[in-house]
Amino acid sequence: MNIELKLLERFRVVEDFPKKGISFKDISPVFIDPEMVREMIEAMSEPWKGKGITRVLGIESRGFLVGPSLALALDAGFLMVRKKGKLPPDTIERSYSLEYGEAIIEMAKNDINSSDRVLIHDDLLATGGTAGAAAHLVKSIGATLVGFSFISSLSFLPGKEALSQFDCPIHSIVEF
Ligand code: AMP
Repeated sequence: MNIELKLLERFRVVEDFPKKGISFKDISPVFIDPEMVREMIEAMSEPWKGKGITRVLGIESRGFLVGPSLALALDAGFLMVRKKGKLPPDTIERSYSLEYGEAIIEMAKNDINSSDRVLIHDDLLATGGTAGAAAHLVKSIGATLVGFSFISSLSFLPGKEALSQFDCPIHSIVEF
């Protein structure tokens, strides 16, 4: 069985969580199976090999599960993108809109520069709001955005369209 089908079987889909109408894709069961994790990292790193990636940006919090392993597999550095107020100075920030209101993400300013080639990673692509804000952070420091990497994406939401403005490849293993 290929990794896409294995993951599809292993995701725990929880309806109406964390609120009514949301079909939550819980990735936790994947991480109790080291063999599956290994295979997943391999499938996720493969498309980006030879692309000169120097930084993988993992988005809080489930982007921290795979991000560091993905960075290791690509021989790149890992950087956290966190909600405002969690990282010590110096940081750069970007606000973006949520369904109701606004959110702000931050990233350490001194661990990345304009010569970096960056891959943005999160566990799941929904509307693309969070990954898009991270992409704007990358652009604001003048680094090259090479692409986006997700474990899964929700194809009934316009996440890919939202990220198309950045004109770079978007990879995910599983599509819901
Ligand atoms: P978005 O910015 O809308 O693309 O949302 C992506 C973020 O929200 C990711 O960090 C996901 O972990 C989380 N997320 C959104 N929808 C779901 C869902 N249905 N199941 C699990 N996580 C989700």
